[in-house]
Amino acid sequence: MIPYGHQSIDESDIEAVTAVLRGDWLTTGPSVAAFEEDLARLSGASRAVSVTSGTAALHVAYAALGVGAGDEVVTTPLTFVSTASCASVLGATIVFADVCEDTGNVDPQAVSAAMTKRTRVVAGVDYAGHPIDATALTQIAHQGNAVLLEDAAHSIGGSLDGQPVGSLADVTTFSFFPTKNLTTAEGGAVVSLRDEVANRARTYRSIGLVRDPAVLRSPDEGPWHQEVHAFGLNYRLPDVLCALGSSQLLRLPAFKARRVAITARYNRGLSGIDELRLPVCRQGADPVWHLYPLRIRDGRRRALFEHLRANDIQVQVNYLPVYRHPVYADLGYQRGMCPVAEDYYAQEISLPLFADLADADVDRVIDLIRGFVGA
Ligand SMILES: *Cc1c(COP(=O)(O)O)cnc(C)c1O
Repeated sequence: MIPYGHQSIDESDIEAVTAVLRGDWLTTGPSVAAFEEDLARLSGASRAVSVTSGTAALHVAYAALGVGAGDEVVTTPLTFVSTASCASVLGATIVFADVCEDTGNVDPQAVSAAMTKRTRVVAGVDYAGHPIDATALTQIAHQGNAVLLEDAAHSIGGSLDGQPVGSLADVTTFSFFPTKNLTTAEGGAVVSLRDEVANRARTYRSIGLVRDPAVLRSPDEGPWHQEVHAFGLNYRLPDVLCALGSSQLLRLPAFKARRVAITARYNRGLSGIDELRLPVCRQGADPVWHLYPLRIRDGRRRALFEHLRANDIQVQVNYLPVYRHPVYADLGYQRGMCPVAEDYYAQEISLPLFADLADADVDRVIDLIRGFVGA
C-alpha cells in the first residue's frame, strides 16, 4: 500500500525527542523557545508562536486579530474546513471567494469583489504548497482596512519572489500534522510580522495568563501573582514535540528537494495527455509541493480514484468546497457559488507525495494512470 502522504522520521529525530524525555522539561521549557526561534528565522517573521495544531494556529490567529461577531472573513472554499471554521467559531461570517483555475489559490479579483465594510480578514491558502498572490491580496486587504492571513499548512519552506512563506502576509499559520511538509505529530504555529499580533497570540495560547509586572492590574499582589485580562485557551505545544520540530526543520531542505523531484517526475510521466491537467507553477513561486493535485477532465475522477485505490494507491481528494459541508449548507450557503472551485474539486486527485516515496512507486502510479486513460 502506498499512502498519499507520510512522515519521515530518522535517528536524528528520535535522538532529539529522547533527549528531552530524559531531561527536566516535558513542556514549556527551552525546546519551545528554540523551536519558535528556528521558525521565526526560517519564515522571516519577527515572532513565532507554537501551538498544538494547524487548527489551533488558525483559531489563535483569528482571535489575536480580534475577529468576532459582526466581522466578515473572506476566504477560499478550496481548503481544509479549519481555514473557515476557526473564524466561524469566533462568531464571524465567512464570505467565500472563488479560486484561480491554474493554482487553485483564491483569486484576488474575486476577493476584491467580496470585500465589504465589515471585512476584517482576507484568508488565503497556499493550495498544494503554491504561495498565494500575496502582493495583490495584501493591497486589496489593506485598502479595505483588513489584514491578510496566509494559511500555510501546505507551504512551509516555500517562497515567492525570493521572500519566504511566513513573511508574505500580516499573519501566517502552519500545521505540523504527519502528512505535512514537516511534523511534530500534532502541532502548528502562528508567525507574524506584527509584534502586537504575535504577543496576543502567545497570551491566547496560554489561557490568557499575563505575568509582566508592567501590565498587571495588581502588581503588588505577590510574587506568585498572574492575571487574565482576555480569554484564551491552552494550546501549548510540549517541549518533546518542539524538539522533534527543530530536528525536522534541519531536514526541511532535503524534504523540499525530494518533493520537488517527485513532482517533476510526475510532470514528465504524465505530460502530453489531453484529459489531464497537471499542477502549474507561476513565475516567481518556489513551492515545496505538499500535494500533487492531478486533474482529470473527462468526468472520470471517481473511476480513476477507485482504480488507483484498487491497486493499493491511497490517493486522496483535496478538497470538498468548504461551503458544501453540512454545517455551512445549513447556514444557507448554496452549492455552485464558486464554480471554479467546484470544477477543481470535481476533477482533482492528490497522488502520493512524501519525502520517502521511491521513484519506482512514482513510476507505478504514472503507469497506472497512463493505462487508465489509454495513453
Ligand atoms: C492540515 C490543514 C489545516 C489544519 O491543520 P491540523 O494540524 O490538521 O489541525 C488547516 N488548513 C489546511 C489548508 C490544512 O491542510
